[in-house]
Amino acid sequence: MSKIDVIILGTSGAAPSSDRGLSSVAIRYNGSILLMDCGEGTQRQMLIYGLNISKVKHIFITHIHCDHVLGVAGLVRTLSLYGRTSPLNIYVPKGFESSIRSIIEFDKAIIRYQINVVGVGSGDVVREDGFTVRAFKLNHSVPAYGYAFREDDRIHFDEKRARALGVKGKMFSEIMERKSKIINGKRVRLDEISERTPGRVIIYAADTRPSPSTIRVAANSDLLIHDSTFCDGEAKLAKERKHSTSREAATVAKRAKAKRLILTHISTRYRDTAQLLKEARSVFKNTDLADDGMLIQV
Ligand SMILES: [Zn+2]
Ligand SMILES: [Zn+2]
Repeated sequence: MSKIDVIILGTSGAAPSSDRGLSSVAIRYNGSILLMDCGEGTQRQMLIYGLNISKVKHIFITHIHCDHVLGVAGLVRTLSLYGRTSPLNIYVPKGFESSIRSIIEFDKAIIRYQINVVGVGSGDVVREDGFTVRAFKLNHSVPAYGYAFREDDRIHFDEKRARALGVKGKMFSEIMERKSKIINGKRVRLDEISERTPGRVIIYAADTRPSPSTIRVAANSDLLIHDSTFCDGEAKLAKERKHSTSREAATVAKRAKAKRLILTHISTRYRDTAQLLKEARSVFKNTDLADDGMLIQV
């Protein structure tokens, strides 16, 4: 089973710093790239960290704040320069489609491929061979959705057991499709002749206060990437601006029983991020703080 590469492209909250770009996370799966947010400079971050921008198939925008969307403007134009012909899909909270269109169309650039801007609410957004991406509600100062990448479960037949029950040839694919089949007058169910390996789950939740919907969707997830704009000392500010402290992010990870937490969207006020990490780890041990270019293999 090959690993899924998750590359954190930009980790700064609101404004960039000399060593942190604006929000974006890339998931590399089956030769395609899925981008979660596309802050200003994302295409350059992709070049620096060795990602082929032509492979971007879907862009999932959490919300229409400038630091999460401005990168779309440059990226779509570069793709046209590269001669792209396949469509690009951009998902954005329902009602904000025109904001994305405006940054695509403002200079009347000629873009020679199709761009589908899709408004989303809670629920499945993309269903492809091998995975699903689901949007879930965040709690931020404007309508915002996080995204859950969920790989399909893998099913392996227990051949010995299946054959003992009379399953052969085409029957395997029939049972896989219909979940059961009558063989020799007896119903044989998929679950009695197979084992299920759960698919991997990656959650992206920024920008947001800690939210029950994140805890629900991140239950037992392999990786949770969460807003961690502030330290404990700025807890009041986090509440006012509808962001999370690193400790709050850790509490979400703990409640969800996630396997690993990555803190991102770090305020530029923190030159030294040790305190953010320390406060989070006091609640949830398997936490790391994202740096631009960080590669996580799930
Ligand atoms: Zn932001
Ligand atoms: Zn925001």
